[in-house]
Amino acid sequence: MSDLPEFIEYLYEEYRHLNSGNLANYIPELTKANPDWFAISVITADGEVFEIGDSTENFTIQSISKVFVYGMALEDCDRQTLLEKIGVEPTGDPFNSVIRLDENSKRPDNPMVNAGAIATAGLIKGTDATDKLNRLLDMFRRYIGHDVFIDAPVFMSERATGHRNRALANLLLNFGMIEDKIEQILDLYFQQCSLVVNCHDLAMMAATLANRGINPKTKEQAVKPDYVRDILSVMYTCGMYNYAGEWAYRVGIPAKSGVSGGIIAVIPDRAGIAVYSPLIDQRGNSIRGIKVFEALADKFHLHLFDRPLEKCSFLNISPSE
Ligand code: GLU
Repeated sequence: MSDLPEFIEYLYEEYRHLNSGNLANYIPELTKANPDWFAISVITADGEVFEIGDSTENFTIQSISKVFVYGMALEDCDRQTLLEKIGVEPTGDPFNSVIRLDENSKRPDNPMVNAGAIATAGLIKGTDATDKLNRLLDMFRRYIGHDVFIDAPVFMSERATGHRNRALANLLLNFGMIEDKIEQILDLYFQQCSLVVNCHDLAMMAATLANRGINPKTKEQAVKPDYVRDILSVMYTCGMYNYAGEWAYRVGIPAKSGVSGGIIAVIPDRAGIAVYSPLIDQRGNSIRGIKVFEALADKFHLHLFDRPLEKCSFLNISPSE
C-alpha cells in the first residue's frame, strides 16, 4: 500500500464535490450534519494510520454499532443460542422493513437489519439497564481505544420518533424472541446507535476486527478471536443494507454502513478502512463512501477473491501426508 497516501488524497479531491444524496431525516437530529463533511481513514492491523479530511468530526455510529453488539451477544450467549433467535440470511429488504419471518422459527433474518439488531440488544447480559449500557460502552471503548459516550440529543430524538422500531420490538415480543422489557431493550438499541464516533475511531474498530479482535494501538482484546469470523461473515453477506449483494460483487470485503454516513470495511489480517460522508442514497449508504471503496478495491485488489489463499493450510499438505 505504498501509494495509499497519494491515492486517498486523490479520492478525496475527486469526490468531495459530489453532492448527490440526502441527509437521513427520519431521525430529526441527524439533519444537523454538514453535508460537506468527508473523511477517509485507513488503519493497518499493526496500527499505521493513513487519513484525510474531517477524520476527527464527531457523529453517531448508527447501524454500524450492530456489528459490535452482535459480537458481544455471541460472547454472552454462544453461537448456537444466538442462531436460534437471530438468523444469518441476507434479506434484500430495507433495514427497517417490518420483520420478514422465517415461518418455522419466527426469528429475524439477520442481526444487521433493525429487527435482528433489536433482538440482539435484548440478549446483552447485565444486572440492570445501567449495567448493560456500561458493558456495551466498555466493549466499544476496547475497540476504539479511548472512553466513549452517547449523544443524548440523538438518543432522545430516536426514542421520540422510533415508532417503527417500537413496532418491531412488539412483534419480536409476540414471537417470543425478546423478553417483556421492550422499552429497556429499545433504549439500549437507541443508545448503541447514538454512540459518538469519528472516522478515525471507525477505522480503528475495523482494524481491530482485521487484527483478530485486538486493538492495534492499545493491544487490548475487544472481542474473542473465535467470534471474529462470525462477525465478518454477517458483515459480508448483510452489512450494506439491500446493496449487500452488489457490494460483495463489486468491492468484496466485509463492511457495514449506517444512516449517519459512515461505512467501515475490514481486510482480514491487513487493515480497517472507514469513510464518512453524511449524504446517503435511498438504501441508506453513503454515496461518496461507496465511490471511495469501489476505487480502493480496484486499485489495491482488495476483493477477497482477488487474493491468493496463502493462509489456507490444507493447500500445503501433500496427498501422501
Ligand atoms: N438508529 C437507526 C434506526 O434504528 C439506525 C439505522 C441505520 O443506521 O441503519 O433506524
